[in-house]
Amino acid sequence: MRALVVEDDPGIASGLAVSLRQAGYAVDVCSTLETAWTALSVEPFDVMLLDLGLPDGDGLDLLARLRRPGERGLLPEHLPRSDMPVLIMTARDGVSDRISGLDSGADDYLVKPFDANELLARLRAMLRRASGRSNPMIEHGDLVLDPAHHTVHRAGEPVALGGKEFALLLTLLQARPQVLSKSRLESALYGFGDALESNAIEVHVHHLRRKLGESLIKTVRGVGYFIPREGDTPVAPPVSGPP
Ligand code: CA
Repeated sequence: MRALVVEDDPGIASGLAVSLRQAGYAVDVCSTLETAWTALSVEPFDVMLLDLGLPDGDGLDLLARLRRPGERGLLPEHLPRSDMPVLIMTARDGVSDRISGLDSGADDYLVKPFDANELLARLRAMLRRASGRSNPMIEHGDLVLDPAHHTVHRAGEPVALGGKEFALLLTLLQARPQVLSKSRLESALYGFGDALESNAIEVHVHHLRRKLGESLIKTVRGVGYFIPREGDTPVAPPVSGPP
C-alpha cells in the first residue's frame, strides 16, 4: 500500500510518515499542492491523507481536481486512481471544511490532533470499502491475511513474513487475478526516497514462494506477477514491461 501525505506542518507530516511506515505503508510526503499533484501524476498511490491549509492553496482544490473527469492530466495507467480513497485532516473548528471536504469527494476525515491508531483503522476501512470488501480479513484458499494485525495464516498455522513480503502479498491478493508489472509492484512497496535494489521484487516473490508454496504466485514472463482466482484466467495489465 502506497500512501501520499499532503501536509505542510513538518512535525505532523513526519509523525504521520513514521506511523504509516510502521504499519507497512510506503509513504511519500508533499508539503504543497503543486508537488502533491506532480506525485499523483507519476505514481499510483492507494490512499491520500490531505491537509486543507497548504502554502499554495486549499487542499480541497487538489481533491476537486483529482475527482474531476477529463482534467486530471494523469498518465492513462494511473487514471483509475482518480477514485483513490482520500482522508482529509482538518482543524477542530473546521466544521464547514469537513462538510465541504466530504461533498468534494473525500471519503473520510479526522480532526487534528488525532490518534495514530484511529487513523490506521480508518485507512483500513477506507481501503476495504474501495476494494468492495466488507470482511476485514482477506482470504484465499486456506490462506488468511489480516491487514489490521499484519498476520498471515496458512491452514490455521501462522506464517512469519517480512514487512515488504507482507505488503507484496497484500497487493497481489487485492489485485487478483490481475497481473501486476514489476514497476507497478515497486511503486506499491517503495516511496520515492526509499532504497530499492533492482531485483527487490524478485527476491520478495522468491521468499513468499518459499514460505507459502511455489504455486500461489504465478509469473507471466516479460509481464509480471499475479495470484489467480480459482477458475479465472489472468487479466492483462495496462502496461507491460519486464518482470
Ligand atoms: Ca496546514
